Amino acid sequence: MNNPPSSDLSFVREIHLSLILRYLHKQAPLSRAQLANLTNLNKSTVSSLVEELIERKLIHEVGQNASWTGRPATLLELNPGAGCIIGVELGVDFVAVILIDFIGKILWRQKQEADPSEAQEATINQTLTMVDDAISAAKSMDLRLLGLGLSTPGTVNTNAGLLIFAPNLHWRNVPLGKIFYEHTGLTTFVDNDANAAALGEHLFGVARQANSFICIFAGVGIGGGLFLNGELYRGASGFAGEIGHCTFLFETFQTPCHCGKSGCWETFANQYSILERVRARLEVKRSSIIPELMAENNSPLTFQIIVKAAEAGDIEATEALAEAGKALGIGIANLINIFNPDMIVIGGPLSEAGSFLLPAVEESVKIRAFNEVLAEAEILLSHFGADASLMGAGALVIQAIITNPSRVEKIR
Ligand SMILES: [Zn+2]
Repeated sequence: MNNPPSSDLSFVREIHLSLILRYLHKQAPLSRAQLANLTNLNKSTVSSLVEELIERKLIHEVGQNASWTGRPATLLELNPGAGCIIGVELGVDFVAVILIDFIGKILWRQKQEADPSEAQEATINQTLTMVDDAISAAKSMDLRLLGLGLSTPGTVNTNAGLLIFAPNLHWRNVPLGKIFYEHTGLTTFVDNDANAAALGEHLFGVARQANSFICIFAGVGIGGGLFLNGELYRGASGFAGEIGHCTFLFETFQTPCHCGKSGCWETFANQYSILERVRARLEVKRSSIIPELMAENNSPLTFQIIVKAAEAGDIEATEALAEAGKALGIGIANLINIFNPDMIVIGGPLSEAGSFLLPAVEESVKIRAFNEVLAEAEILLSHFGADASLMGAGALVIQAIITNPSRVEKIR
């Protein structure tokens, strides 16, 4: 029998390296013997794989377990000090940059207001300057940079790092991957904000143990990260998950959605819809502390002011949020009926009002989802709240390393 070609062997080795990292990510600390049991690989193969991952600084030894079988075994876990990752989120009205370590701990962060719908070049330059600051911060901490992840609203060609169309930004065909790679020299990954948020919840958040879940990224728009059977579901052309633009109810008098169509789900449950609901209530002169808060803060009506009012017990604010929660719940019930997920995670700016939205969401879902599928589905707020997609941007890089560990160089 001929020996398999060496490219096949290195392919298999890469899969095994990835398998070890996955187990250590989910169940660490583990010993070499435990890894051999879990992976069904023999002990000497596991030892050699572990050695390589230690050389790449991706895992490290963390002491020994007091085993009853006699000899204590050395335990392993992912190495937080493997290096750091830059996460970038292009929001609709802000840009944010973080530095995280290999297990998702935030080491440095910066967030600035921006208006990407006004001037694309200015926003990109503003973001690149923030990325430069992140690189300086990593240098000052003497950390190697493992890559850059970027999340953006809209449809993305992830292979090309190309933003195809973001209705809420009015951006089309922007080669974000190329721009950020050329500026930094770092391997750059670009994905849709909701997909990134789903990956962040899978790697570091509330969905670590969930095999099938849907991450709802809600703010100015509503996007969906469909994480099904252990991986992100992207659809035939990579654009799956545009749940906010499912037609919800079409009435001719409605203001159209930013996508140009009418009756989209997100127009009933996004931040703008909450502002509209509050405005309508204030117009009929309902008693509320909102006008007072606006005067105090010298601010127009904003989502943050509404949340503040709700926290102070304002009835108009809490009722407007509950109405939006009800509309959010109707769409979530549809998703539960279609996908039968273990979990629904709500993240993004809207989750700042999570405690006011969630009871209405749950009530609405209970009425509409089938009991059989509802029994499986927990509805939770994101571990990272408004930062769900920012953490997810960093997670894009970590996921790529877990899938292809040899992309990270050895350090001797
Ligand atoms: Zn739409």
